[in-house]
Amino acid sequence: MDAVSVERCADGEQRLVAMRHLAMDEVILEEVPLFEMPDEEILERKCSRYVAAWRYACQRIGQDGVERIFAHQFSEGAAAGTKAQEVHNALQLEVPVAQQPAASRFLMVLMSNSFRFTGPKGNRLTALFEIMSRVNHSCLPNARMVGDGHPAKLVTTKSVAPQEEIFLCYGGWNTGFVEQPLRQRQQHLLGNWGFVCQCGRCQQEPRDSKTP
Ligand SMILES: [Zn+2]
Repeated sequence: MDAVSVERCADGEQRLVAMRHLAMDEVILEEVPLFEMPDEEILERKCSRYVAAWRYACQRIGQDGVERIFAHQFSEGAAAGTKAQEVHNALQLEVPVAQQPAASRFLMVLMSNSFRFTGPKGNRLTALFEIMSRVNHSCLPNARMVGDGHPAKLVTTKSVAPQEEIFLCYGGWNTGFVEQPLRQRQQHLLGNWGFVCQCGRCQQEPRDSKTP
């Protein structure tokens, strides 16, 4: 990995930065998932999808595997999002009390850091990556994730100067997210990811007082 490097800031935040000049459409990182879940298998289960994801992880990687994921110190920002309450309610109903703290933390890590994409067999996957999951969001991204996850590739969408931070769009690529107005983007990010976007674009755009 000579193109980019993870920087840990004084405030504990992490960011991926360019180590040299990067051209547009350059593959700057290739990575296989640390953990992945087939979405269909989760959705088939007769319980809330949060509980289904937790049970899948327990069966697949066990408590040791869950602890190993915690050891990577991923962000748990989604805990501040509006979906955290839904998770809390689902766990309370369907997961033993002793498992609830770990289940809740695991789901926050997953919700804050995972990617959803089409895997090698054409099925939808949700996956966590050691490095790619630490790339921060911007409403004006300079990279996107491509591939089926085996490996996933991080590709620049414009040229990037040395030491410039690499950003993905958490609303997805070609999903219409970046065309949305400020308020809609901010609501999506707050609800799903638990943060108020302070990216350069959000700071510059005037707030539209007409939309409720
Ligand atoms: Zn933004």
